[in-house]
Amino acid sequence: MSQGKDFVIGMDLGGTFLKYALGTPDGELIINKKTPSKGKEPKQEIFNVIFSAIEELLHVAKEQGGRVIAIGLGSPGAIDFEKGKQIGSTPNLPHWIDADIRGEIELKFGIPVWADNDANVMAFAESRMGAAKGYRYSIALTLGTGIGGGIILNNEIFRGANYAGAELGHLTIDYKGLKCNCGGIGCIERYASATGMVENYAKRKKVDPAAVKTEDIFERAKAGEPEAQGTIADTCECLGAALATLVNIFNPEMIVIGGGVGDAGDKFIETIHTAVKQKAMGPALLNLKIARARLGNKAGIIGAICLAAEMHSRTKSAQGTRV
Ligand SMILES: [Zn+2]
Repeated sequence: MSQGKDFVIGMDLGGTFLKYALGTPDGELIINKKTPSKGKEPKQEIFNVIFSAIEELLHVAKEQGGRVIAIGLGSPGAIDFEKGKQIGSTPNLPHWIDADIRGEIELKFGIPVWADNDANVMAFAESRMGAAKGYRYSIALTLGTGIGGGIILNNEIFRGANYAGAELGHLTIDYKGLKCNCGGIGCIERYASATGMVENYAKRKKVDPAAVKTEDIFERAKAGEPEAQGTIADTCECLGAALATLVNIFNPEMIVIGGGVGDAGDKFIETIHTAVKQKAMGPALLNLKIARARLGNKAGIIGAICLAAEMHSRTKSAQGTRV
């Protein structure tokens, strides 16, 4: 039945761009591109962007003498993984409410589809192809404008009962602390995201936060400025507290830190590691590694490819032959 090469499509849907790629089932990229996602437009417009991208990649697969066996897609917010459906909407894609991702794409192309939360997909990518490869228990944290995360337990993505788990940015580190957009108080995102760091620094320097970038804070800290050094020390302490909690609960072997802030450098990662060692309990710290994410902004597409490929092969072996 199967002739020629098998390919998998991976997509990473965001409020601004749709990243899309064709790869091998092992996660090696053949081609990867991005296009405006029309995130603020009606649902059908976003589906049309996705459809065009798939058509383009099907064409590439055909040219290469192969066929596409599965499609994976990561999207922000909660996704019902069993149904491949968005649950509610998400601020950057306001009309993407309850989008039937699997239903619509399978109806149009007849290729099996798997959809999952974008942070879960990134954690999966690092676990299969990145810094957490070879570790059964890992946690990935993305430090950007907000904080996203994913948890891999015994090689599987942890999603929770309603697919709303692993919201690591909303782990409380101070129950009397700053209010968060999520309705909670003292979430780690309010302190250790790029936004939180900039706010902290601007307060110390008595300047407008709009005039500050996280890169500046790291630069000035290196040059010896006490306010910048204090801000980074605070960030590492907060992250240390949050990660120590996760270490005590999940006992991961590897924590991967990525995103704009996470790119700050090895010293930043080492300082966080030191803070975690001070706060977490002994047995959970044995063999714990903390490393920078390796796949950068390709983690979304690579993870979507790996997830779809893996689910496809499991479905096939469970059902005998699925054509
Ligand atoms: Zn929150």
